Amino acid sequence: LVRRMRPFGTTIFAEMSALAVRTGAVNLGQGFPDTDGPPEMLAAAAEALRTGHNQYPPGPGIPALRAAVAAHQRRFWGLDYDPDGEVLVTAGATEAIAAAILGLCETGDEVVTFEPYYDSYAASIALAGAVRRPVTLRPSTDGRYAFDPDELRAAFGPHTRLVLLNSPHNPTGKVFTREELTLIAALCQEYDAYAVTDEVYEHLVFSDAGSTHVPLATLPGMRERTLRISSAGKTFSCTGWKIGWVSGPAALVSAAMRVKQFLTFVNGGPLQPAVAVALGLPDSYYEGFRAGLEAQRDQLAEGLVDAGFGVLPSEGTYFVTTDITPLGGVDGVEFCRSLPERCGVVAVPTQVFYDDVAAGRHLVRFAFCKRPTVLTEAVTRLRRMA
Ligand code: PMP
Ligand code: GLN
Repeated sequence: LVRRMRPFGTTIFAEMSALAVRTGAVNLGQGFPDTDGPPEMLAAAAEALRTGHNQYPPGPGIPALRAAVAAHQRRFWGLDYDPDGEVLVTAGATEAIAAAILGLCETGDEVVTFEPYYDSYAASIALAGAVRRPVTLRPSTDGRYAFDPDELRAAFGPHTRLVLLNSPHNPTGKVFTREELTLIAALCQEYDAYAVTDEVYEHLVFSDAGSTHVPLATLPGMRERTLRISSAGKTFSCTGWKIGWVSGPAALVSAAMRVKQFLTFVNGGPLQPAVAVALGLPDSYYEGFRAGLEAQRDQLAEGLVDAGFGVLPSEGTYFVTTDITPLGGVDGVEFCRSLPERCGVVAVPTQVFYDDVAAGRHLVRFAFCKRPTVLTEAVTRLRRMA
């Protein structure tokens, strides 16, 4: 194995899902829904499979999906992208992130990102021979995760190539505020850096969040330096489909495209028309989706409080993080490895998403993208924890 990949073992999601299967535990670890997405989308996929959409789609994605991606961003965020040249379909957000970083970073370039970060970030940065410059999110006095503006400023320098920003943020559930984004945008411009934004949870900001979702590309001076990434997996409950997309100015999209051609070339032929249908669903779909997840968040968060966890506020995403200290827990990895045996539930230790492991040692993430009956069972088990 090459040196640059040696620090990366099996992903925590694979480890914890395997543990759930082996022990028969309720899996609140890996973030995937346990219900199917909109029936219109599923019917469109079945139809596409039956009617000859089974060969290579065009390199940038089928025109109907690129048009739907552009229309969706105009409808929700007032962002205008040309479906021909400013939109690229990828194998999930994961490939989009890798292609963006590999296409934009030279060896030694620095990537500023907020930790805890989604696990593929560190690996994609390493594959590019780039260097990560993490800025730590910490629970502040009001419980919300925040960063120190001076720490962010200090992370920028002459070698900064891009900022990799995830909001709504996995695993913390933080939604970056306009004020926070304004500082990030100012630093990008001051250091002439690009922004790559991971917005896979764009439709999952809850009603009591401190902010609405603000795409960084909507801030002054940012559209021309931002590659925006999203994916169908979360919004349409089809994480196994791996249909994602990148949008941005043509030069940046084409940098990602150059790499994507040689990673997967194309992907998801019969699924692309179905995602185009899903993106065109009325606002009521998106509102119902968000409201459903918000109710599930409330259910799980209340249950976790009852079970004795310190529950941190989750403003968006599929996840809520907890402090295990009140339960006598010290180390999240140990805690999560023993949790199936103690009570038949699987969760994910947040520390694996930090360079500064100590900052997240006592934190554990639970996924609430599960049916209410499953959450009820999980909470019952957690309350009985040995
Ligand atoms: N980014 C974040 C923040 C995620 O939580 C995930 C996980 N689903 C991804 C990217 C990957 O998305 P996809 O499954 O579309 O590759
Ligand atoms: N995004 C999901 C999570 O954070 C899982 C993705 C994966 O398994 N790679 O749990």
